[in-house]
Amino acid sequence: MNNPKIWLSTPHMGGSELNYIHEAFDTNWISPLGLNITEFEHDLENYLSQNVFATALSSATAAIHLGLILLGVKAGDVVICQSMTFSASANPILYQGATPVFVDSEIETWNLCPIALEEAIVDTVHKGQIPKAIITVHLYGVPYKIDEIRAIANKYNIPILEDSAEALGSSYKGKKCGTFGDISVFSFNGNKIITTSGGGILITSSKHTKKKAQFLASQAKDEAPHYQHSELGYNYQMSNICAGIGRGQMKVLEKHIALRRTMHDFYVSLFENISGITVFSTINPDYFANYWLTSILVNSAETKNGINRENIRLALLDSNIECRPLWKPMHLQPLYENYPFYGNKIAETLFENGLSLPSGSNLTDSDRDRIRTALLKLLC
Ligand SMILES: *Cc1c(COP(=O)(O)O)cnc(C)c1O
Repeated sequence: MNNPKIWLSTPHMGGSELNYIHEAFDTNWISPLGLNITEFEHDLENYLSQNVFATALSSATAAIHLGLILLGVKAGDVVICQSMTFSASANPILYQGATPVFVDSEIETWNLCPIALEEAIVDTVHKGQIPKAIITVHLYGVPYKIDEIRAIANKYNIPILEDSAEALGSSYKGKKCGTFGDISVFSFNGNKIITTSGGGILITSSKHTKKKAQFLASQAKDEAPHYQHSELGYNYQMSNICAGIGRGQMKVLEKHIALRRTMHDFYVSLFENISGITVFSTINPDYFANYWLTSILVNSAETKNGINRENIRLALLDSNIECRPLWKPMHLQPLYENYPFYGNKIAETLFENGLSLPSGSNLTDSDRDRIRTALLKLLC
């Protein structure tokens, strides 16, 4: 009777992770330094293969915070951020004492709307400030409109901080996500496509920027025999144990991407003949998504008996299957509701009608059967 819980996205070990952890124990590198860290960074650099430098950190949130610092964001500055995202994309703006300006999504990629972005920049400039950075996001692993957003950023000479937390393995026109920003970040939180149990990484094309990121992440210690500090530092390094998990996970990344994409295919065919449900998918072959999470939009005007997003969520919950409304836009969050927002109601409408479904690379045929049965029972 008691079916085990089916989760949205859980850690999925590949098998070799423990070897690297044992190695760290055997050599006593139980610290935020060691071979696992440098090798994990190299693995990422080779994977992205665009002459980039990677700095392993304690989280993507830490990476975004350091990214803003490296881009020169200071108290009183304005930073533009996609509204529809996880709070960790935006919170580091407040850590810096800067002001977030939120921008709506467009309907094709659910990411930054180029028109609303330009409106936000022009209006901010009109009010006397040039935005210091634009934080872009590849929601659920679907790349944003890379060319359009880059053109606008270049036109106004504003750097991009690319939040690729959800998009490891995604690409646009054959180039990997995580290489489009002036600084980019990935997350290895437990629910992401690969995990280090918790961790993140900062990607830059400049060796100097990497050095500076490492310096800031390790308490900004000046060169001296004693502890000497001229700058504000942070304790943001990744542990050599966690990096060992990451090295093992890199070996199964391609497999995980394929399995996540199989989950997306599963939902596409499941909903093929069900009216009122759209599976969020890339718009053309320029876009390659890792489909970290597969999400749907529910149009209750077209579903059987007017079933809406919440009906589906509760029915799945009843069958012990986890699913989640899409990210609630930042401009609708109590924490951020008083900051400027540019756009219309795209993100808001997506939030009201969108649902992310179980998408893990470790889901089984029997899990898929249970999901299919629960959904068909409700919607057919
Ligand atoms: C998960 C996530 C983060 C935060 O990553 P952590 O490693 O948990 O700090 C940031 N942005 C987005 C879009 C995310 O999905």
